[in-house]
Parts: sequence; structure tokens; C-alpha cells
Amino acid sequence: MHVRFMGTGAADFSPRLKTDLSDKLDRDARRSSSVLIGGTLLIDCGPHVTDSFRIQGLEASRVTDLLLTHLHDDHFLPDRAAALAAACRGALRIWYRAGAEIAPIPGAEMRPVQPGETFDAGEYTVRALAANHTAYPLHYDIEGPDGARLFYGCDGAWVLYDTFYAMRRREYDGMILDATVGDYTGDFRLGEHNSIPMIRLMTASFKTERVLATEGKVCLSHIARTLHAPHAELAAAMEKEGYLTAYDGMQWEIAPHGDAADGEK
Ligand SMILES: [Zn+2]
Ligand SMILES: [Zn+2]
Repeated sequence: MHVRFMGTGAADFSPRLKTDLSDKLDRDARRSSSVLIGGTLLIDCGPHVTDSFRIQGLEASRVTDLLLTHLHDDHFLPDRAAALAAACRGALRIWYRAGAEIAPIPGAEMRPVQPGETFDAGEYTVRALAANHTAYPLHYDIEGPDGARLFYGCDGAWVLYDTFYAMRRREYDGMILDATVGDYTGDFRLGEHNSIPMIRLMTASFKTERVLATEGKVCLSHIARTLHAPHAELAAAMEKEGYLTAYDGMQWEIAPHGDAADGEK
């Protein structure tokens, strides 16, 4: 499974994205959080996603499915989704949490889903999971045709009861977690975003409960640049603990672990 980070930031966007960085990626001036999986499956469509396609020289026309994690405007802007739908060859399927009121987008098929529901997004099998955030939040469990499994957990703090039991023994090969808050305690965002200490606690249980495959990796994203050290420093510190730290434009090839590759569990 090939994952490309279109943006890795929280909503504290650098003003430089509108000036000297308008045509460049920068590891410290993160754009709105989004990933592109296999060139066809996009997660989130915030203010910078079209810039990210342009700067990285990618074809938005190949996208068939857009998964929305929630309706905060650093993740979903209707005019960006409409621009994407207009660029797509076929009808763009837009998946989002049932109950959210989204005006129809020309050229798109609107596909509301409930937490716990499984659906096909092109060649990917996706399960929507409840998330601890607001604005109709969902996390996603995504399995590729090669059997690789990815958990996408931005935005959201901790994991909810039903979600944790759905994640147990899934042995994700990759997990992308909300790391909005830096390596300190006492932050007020406890009920909506993770901090690094929270991620450490969760990762320990993810390992014992086989949420994470033995060779699986946790990757930090949705990083608030104002709450963290600069990227190079953060990534070096987290690497010592076995974590990946995403940056805009990063590509991550997630290989399925042995059992999944054999198609048996
Ligand atoms: Zn956000
Ligand atoms: Zn949010």
C-alpha cells in the first residue's frame, strides 16, 4: 500500500504558505492534513489539497474516492471537494459520517456511512470507525488489495470503546495517529487530540492487544507546528522510540505482514 502525505498539519497554518512557500513543500510549514493512497483514494480535502496535488505534480483525475474524517474546515472545504470532483474522470464517491449535512457536490456521489460499516472504495476495503472528536468524526480501517492494513486516526483523541474492540487483533501494518499536541502534559485538548505522551500510552496497548502488527509502524501526523519542535528535531527524537513522523510529500510504502500476505488470519 502506497501512502503519500499531501499535508500533515493542524489548523495553525503558517502565513508563509501564502507567500514564499505557495509553490513549495516545507517540513515546518505543514499543509492541511490529507493522504493519497495508491493515487486513487484520498483522505480529506482541506484548503491546501489542490496546491499539494499541483506542487507534487500528481493527477487529481485518478482519484475515485474521497474519505472525509470530519467536517472541520482544515479537513473539508466544499469548494475544494468540488474542484476535485470536476478534475476526476468519473463520478467521485465521497464517504462521510451519516447525519452530517453536506450540500450535494456536482460530479460527486454522496455516500454517508455509519460507524462500524464496511464498504469498497475502489480496490480498498474500508471500515468506518467512531472517533473521539467533533463535527461528525470517523477514523478509517483500510485494507489494500495486497492485504496491507492501515489505520487512519486523524482527528481524534485516544480511541473509543467500540473502535478499540474493532481494532484489537487487526495487526495494522501502519497506523497514522493524530499528534496535534507536543511532548508535554496538561494540555486542554485532551478530549479531541492526542499528545505525544498519550500516543506512548496507546502504543503500548496497541502492541499487547495486537492492534499493531509486530513489524507495524505508528506514524505521527496532524502535527501542530506551534506545539512541537521543528520537524528534524521531532522526527529524530521520535525515531529513537520507533515512530515515524510524517512531513508533507512523504511517501510511505506499507508492506503487509506475513499472515495478511498469505490471506489467512
Ligand atoms: Zn484538524
Ligand atoms: Zn478537527
